[in-house]
Amino acid sequence: METLSQLLFPHVTKTPEELEAQYPPRNLPEGAVVTRMAPSPTGFVHLGNLVQGLTSERMAHRTGGVLFLRVEDTDAKREVPGAVEVLIESLKHYGIAFDEGATVEGDLGNYGPYRQRQRAEIYHVYAKLLVEKGMAYPCFCTEEELTAMRERQEANKETTGYYGKYALWRDRPLEEVKAALDAGKPWVLRFRSPGDSSRQFKFNDLVKGTLTVTENDVDHVLLKADGIPTYHFAHAVDDHLMRTTHVVRGDEWLPSLPFHIQLFQALGFKLPKYVHIGPLMKMDGASKRKLSKRKDPELALTYYQAAGFPVEAVYEYIMTLLNSNYEDWRRANPDADPTAFPFSPKKLNPAGNLFDYAKLTDVSKNVIAKMPASQVYNLLTKWAVQYDPEFGEKLAADPAYAQAILAIGRGGKKPRKDLATWKDAKEYMGFFYDEYLAAPEFDPRFPKETVAKALARYLETGDPADDAAAWFEKVKALTEEMGFTADMRAYKADPSAFPGSVADVSGFLRVALTGKTNSPDLYTVIGILGWDRANGRIRAALEGLK
Ligand code: GLU
Repeated sequence: METLSQLLFPHVTKTPEELEAQYPPRNLPEGAVVTRMAPSPTGFVHLGNLVQGLTSERMAHRTGGVLFLRVEDTDAKREVPGAVEVLIESLKHYGIAFDEGATVEGDLGNYGPYRQRQRAEIYHVYAKLLVEKGMAYPCFCTEEELTAMRERQEANKETTGYYGKYALWRDRPLEEVKAALDAGKPWVLRFRSPGDSSRQFKFNDLVKGTLTVTENDVDHVLLKADGIPTYHFAHAVDDHLMRTTHVVRGDEWLPSLPFHIQLFQALGFKLPKYVHIGPLMKMDGASKRKLSKRKDPELALTYYQAAGFPVEAVYEYIMTLLNSNYEDWRRANPDADPTAFPFSPKKLNPAGNLFDYAKLTDVSKNVIAKMPASQVYNLLTKWAVQYDPEFGEKLAADPAYAQAILAIGRGGKKPRKDLATWKDAKEYMGFFYDEYLAAPEFDPRFPKETVAKALARYLETGDPADDAAAWFEKVKALTEEMGFTADMRAYKADPSAFPGSVADVSGFLRVALTGKTNSPDLYTVIGILGWDRANGRIRAALEGLK
């Protein structure tokens, strides 16, 4: 007589031994971590993907291991066309380079296929094995039956699910199964759980530490009616055959862990180590909540690109988020490559991380401040061409000019920190381009005539041959001529003793030259604008005062 496993899987001819031989243990040094990202291609790539990606990437590459990408595309209904490409490109953009797995061009590596829909045959080999071992069985319950069951359980205030006396198909005789199959009834394959919900056991997670968990007694679905595996079954089969040593994933999977442990045991697989990452949260008023796709645009990875955060800054920020000792390390190693940091999954916060936009902005300012002008120029221009094409065109038209602007205050011990994002650049440096120069608005505390007098005197006394010191001496001299003081200490001690100070005169010049009340050093600005063009602006401002 045909056995149940032959009845259910007549097409399966491969054996688990053949698969074991086809996907042998990897030849890697002791301690090398093999890990993966296993995202579902829903088209939405979020900050959580990056947190998980960087954690896995660091763990693999710091140990001489392997990071691979597996696409979990078993839920065809949720799949968005092009999502796999978007996913791969976004992760690449953030420096997450996979050693193997799904790529835009196809599969790379010896442990594939890396897209789950292409692995149906493999899952069925192990499904058949479990049936042979008496660890899985077909269930022909209809949706209506399952709903009725759940309602009864709820009414009785019992735990809901397919377990114990509710596991209706667990011990049916073979003839009944055969009859249902012959009648063409759809079925799912269920796990025969050996667990008992009154028992607990200890489990060690690399982030969460030692946890006490309850055994699973639910006969969960392994294969859906279309033969496609559930996440749980695919996780066990894939991570075993792909020789994953560490599973880094979101802690929403923690409740399924007791089931996963049973599955690995039933299949005769060695259990990988687990790194369950807590969620990303944000402050909402006085309380914390999880970042939400619906409410928080900053959850999407595309947000950072459009907002103009350099990849390096997002990377740096995520590192500070993941390992609390990263900032100390950074202070001690200001110029080191972040990959030199001794990253450890054990330093992750088990409760998850608080995402702090202000902190990201701060980190980004520091990261941009340390970049050489040429790099700032290249990244900014690339961003602007896409997100502010008009500005992008101006930047691209005269690279030397733009780089001279971006070089202001860069390179020293205390570099300027004007830019947190590329979006800030136009506000900061736009005045260097005539089209973006705002009309001057002078300090209303001073009569127009006073401002006009200062500007006119400046035009008369200035000389393009003056160096910075000589230039400023002349500004001070015209300050004194106007009855203002050039002695800032005296002015600060008693402002009422003077009609104004050299700071006010510089302010007039600044507004005339830049249209703004703060800007980089004026002499430097004039140097970049060119003497004549700068004086042209002062003259125009003077005209405007008449
Ligand atoms: N496809 C699962 C998810 O996106 C993968 C979880 C895992 O890494 O195992 O949540």
